[in-house]
Amino acid sequence: MFDFFRNIFRAFKTSFKLLFSSKVTLNYPTEKETRDGKARRSHTIDTSKCVACGTCAKACPSKAINVSAHCNGDTKELDEISIDYGKCCFCGICESACHKKAISLSAENKRTFRKSETIKAIGKRGRKK
Ligand code: SF4
Ligand code: SF4
Repeated sequence: MFDFFRNIFRAFKTSFKLLFSSKVTLNYPTEKETRDGKARRSHTIDTSKCVACGTCAKACPSKAINVSAHCNGDTKELDEISIDYGKCCFCGICESACHKKAISLSAENKRTFRKSETIKAIGKRGRKK
């Protein structure tokens, strides 16, 4: 019986303390958060730099990246890069793997989604085979 009242007392004590502490949640999206520059929240793909090598797709541990390209004479041209946000774990390995610095992750939180979403970048740049 004593434990019961002690736990009730502790619960009220904690609730009372939190009532006067600073707020830790946000009323998103009307309130914007203070962004940490190191956070990895969304991808940017610069198709003018991408050479459709597919290294990012091979390096991705979640198999979230799909690179499609076609051959045009002796060059390989990028058709599309897509990232499945239903699979992506925002590890940043694709950014490190890309030797052309064409794919990067930023702290910018541009999207809120409830189900799997794919972002796509369509490009034309090619490289010699
Ligand atoms: S984003 Fe980088 S690693 Fe991925 S296909 Fe393009 S150049 Fe290659
Ligand atoms: S951040 Fe990680 S999981 Fe997401 S696409 Fe890049 S390598 Fe794949």
